[in-house]
Amino acid sequence: MAYVSHLKCSKCNTEYDLSKYPLLCTTPNCNARIDVFYNYSNLQEVLSKKILSKRPLSVWSYFELLPVSNRKNIVSLGEGGTPLLRSERLAKVLGVRELYIKDETRNPTWSFKDRPMTVGVSKAKEQGTDTLASASSGNAAAALAAYCARAGFTCFCFVPDIAPMGKIAQLILYGAKVVRLRGLHKGDDPTVKLLREACATYGWTPCPSFGPFNPYQAEGPKTLAYEIIQQLDWTVPDVAYVQVGAGGLLGGQWRGFTDFLTLDLVKQRPRMLAVQATGCPPLVRAFETNQDPFKITPCESPKSVAEGLCDPFPWDGDLALTAVRESKGTAIAVSDESILKAQDLLAKYEGIFAEPTGVTGLAGLIDQLESGAQDPSETILIEATGGGLKDQDIVIERISAPPVIDPDLAQLQAALDLQK
Ligand SMILES: *Cc1c(COP(=O)(O)O)cnc(C)c1O
Repeated sequence: MAYVSHLKCSKCNTEYDLSKYPLLCTTPNCNARIDVFYNYSNLQEVLSKKILSKRPLSVWSYFELLPVSNRKNIVSLGEGGTPLLRSERLAKVLGVRELYIKDETRNPTWSFKDRPMTVGVSKAKEQGTDTLASASSGNAAAALAAYCARAGFTCFCFVPDIAPMGKIAQLILYGAKVVRLRGLHKGDDPTVKLLREACATYGWTPCPSFGPFNPYQAEGPKTLAYEIIQQLDWTVPDVAYVQVGAGGLLGGQWRGFTDFLTLDLVKQRPRMLAVQATGCPPLVRAFETNQDPFKITPCESPKSVAEGLCDPFPWDGDLALTAVRESKGTAIAVSDESILKAQDLLAKYEGIFAEPTGVTGLAGLIDQLESGAQDPSETILIEATGGGLKDQDIVIERISAPPVIDPDLAQLQAALDLQK
């Protein structure tokens, strides 16, 4: 049975054929993202609460809602199925009634980017391609490199020179061919520029985590929403705080929530709160100044500790902006100081070591609570989207080294100021 009904350009509505493996709209001057549509009546026959509840929680448990036709093409490292933790200590500190944390740091390459990349690489395999390329500040490239290693494919990564070496080392170990690009602060994203030109010249398949370059990977983040709904026993939170770089994480989840609403598996969708860093807030500006979703003004010179959110142009900003508007959410920017504080709080009160990029949503929640804009009695969701071990320098910079002593109780007592 066919579950994908058709493919259509998000902007000019031109239709495409899934079997032809289109990557972007080829209408002159359009170049927009192609969206994948599903046949919900066929899906309804095979996806009931009962059936889904029997499957293990994982990305590929939602096979029918993903654009891969044959299961034998799946390239998997066991992604998804991450815990949804009910917060007790952090909730208390923040004064909120019900707070959930989706811990995406537990994915195979330690970020949620494994969800889009398992789909992108599987679809490439189905199509018979074996060379893929990415433009990324780190996590998307790491995920692509890992899945390419698993599949035996060649992977090229263009990363900005600001990306931490911890992330770059990971790519190299997976066998990716990596170059670092200077000039992120000159408007046009140099990694994307080279990705486009190199793929056109060498015939590689682009697979960054941006929908307008590869529509298949863009389907992966939907599975986050599906899992959250199942983990909340077929309900949704009132509000989801989601960090936004290019917008695929937020936009993809919105489509996931919409799928389950359409399939009558839930009755509502959450408000989507888009959170960006003040050093790179193009989506926030677009929301505040009511910009056309297809004409979002790029950020001239992105700079933030949340380096994974430093996309000068939100490639899936149309999707994210529409999600924020339709869900009656909002978009806010938070300072680097708030982001680092959120990183500390999540580690200290919940035992989750996330990178700054991955806690920006939490920083947004804290800001909204402080300003009184967030009702503390709501059911609130945050998502720790990337692990902290990849960028330890940012932590080491602000902690002091522990005291060095001899194995002597008196010295221990003095060093840690212990009372007998
Ligand atoms: C990429 C990334 C994001 C942002 O996702 P977008 O789809 O670019 O908006 C958030 N958190 C982490 C850890 C990421 O790597």
